[in-house]
Amino acid sequence: MTDFILCGGEVIDGSGKPPFRADVTIREGLIAAVGKCESRAGAREIDCTGKVVAPGFIDTHTHDDRALLVNPEMAMKISQGVTTVVTGNCGISLAPFVAKTAPPPPFDLLGEADDFCYPRFADYLAALDSSPPSLNAAPLVGHSTLRLAAMEALDRPASTVELAAMGEGLEEALRAGAFGLSSGLYYPPAACAPPSEIEALARLLARAGALYATHMRDEGKGVLASLDESFAVGRKAKIPVVISHHKLAGRENFGRSTQTLAHFEKAMGAQEIGLDAYPYAASSTILQEDRIGAAEKVLVTWSKSVPEAAGRELSELAREWGISLEAAAQRLKPAGAIYFMMDEADVRRILAFPQTMIGSDGLPFDSHPHPRLWGTFPRVLGHYSREVGLFSLAEAVRRMTSLPAARFGLKGRGSIGPGLFADIAVFDPSSVIDRASFDDPCRPALGIEHVFVGGRPVWSEERPTGERPGRVLRRGR
Ligand SMILES: [Zn+2]
Repeated sequence: MTDFILCGGEVIDGSGKPPFRADVTIREGLIAAVGKCESRAGAREIDCTGKVVAPGFIDTHTHDDRALLVNPEMAMKISQGVTTVVTGNCGISLAPFVAKTAPPPPFDLLGEADDFCYPRFADYLAALDSSPPSLNAAPLVGHSTLRLAAMEALDRPASTVELAAMGEGLEEALRAGAFGLSSGLYYPPAACAPPSEIEALARLLARAGALYATHMRDEGKGVLASLDESFAVGRKAKIPVVISHHKLAGRENFGRSTQTLAHFEKAMGAQEIGLDAYPYAASSTILQEDRIGAAEKVLVTWSKSVPEAAGRELSELAREWGISLEAAAQRLKPAGAIYFMMDEADVRRILAFPQTMIGSDGLPFDSHPHPRLWGTFPRVLGHYSREVGLFSLAEAVRRMTSLPAARFGLKGRGSIGPGLFADIAVFDPSSVIDRASFDDPCRPALGIEHVFVGGRPVWSEERPTGERPGRVLRRGR
């Protein structure tokens, strides 16, 4: 294995402290030394003068479960400096579930019937082990997936027998190494699950030392009640809670991040709570008629019935077809969409909150995806830190590295220091910026120069190297 010496860069170590000049030596997959390094025979030196050497970024919120298997190069993530993705969010994980027919939305964000082919969570992790991607994966198991595997009908609470089956599925996933349970109570497959259903499963998390991440029931009018519901799960089971992609949806809720963040702060005094956010004022998920009203603009990201509609505005299509927005959505479904329905001031206030981690929520199979898939991390570094001045660069890096590593329990990652895993991003602080836009969403970012995963180079000279040193990370190991 070639050793590397990253020479003369400014090290931002992930802790939030200011950059300092140092060489970083990579040996046998680990960071061997930080400081003044002598050149050594056989070690490749990389001049990092004027560049930042940082821990690789941790994407805390992804739907990459299947992308890791079918697109192991993961260019959309390594091109941003991401070295670990947390999968299985919003209640939907690819395992454990074997589908006989097409599972209902939003499972179609992950794959089709044939893709749900892992009876046990361990089977999915074994598939990743035997065909590793370029970067690491830290998997969550989805509550909606457990429901789908255990219940005949999803439009009601789970019965005692079904809940026991879900509990068995959860425990198997935790034994296999899942970092926790995710839920998507907003979505139809889980909307009928009462708090008691989640609380019963959360008790199993406590025993394993795992966490609970949630796409809450309501991110609009009822957001405070949804925060309370989520916090209560953690408080009762004594487990950490992560509020996924925190946002305020709909014009009537603009500005309410002052209330929600105060709510977070108060609860954080009494229990362990985290949150993540993506740096855009537009959301993206499946196309649903009931979401259209709250949005200023709706952009189609994919459509099974009208594939050529991807990338077009829903209002434009409705006008061309001479029908209402709702009828146009009906015609397009199953489909996905981007909803412009947030206030930029809320986005900035949430990003600036000291406990906010960065999660892309990128949707890897959309034909015209939300630009967050390719742009999230460079956008926080280049736009929100350098251009807008929301926080220092060291603080931006902390939110992407040591903060999520501590929250999810990713041992030996998220920092630069001797003996830690050599997951590293080298970037140019003066030019790093996202180029993916709502019109042209799949453009790689600028300024990400080198990315290492476990000491192997995966991104260099603006392209993937083809190496696949990624590992499935397992809780506690
Ligand atoms: Zn979600």
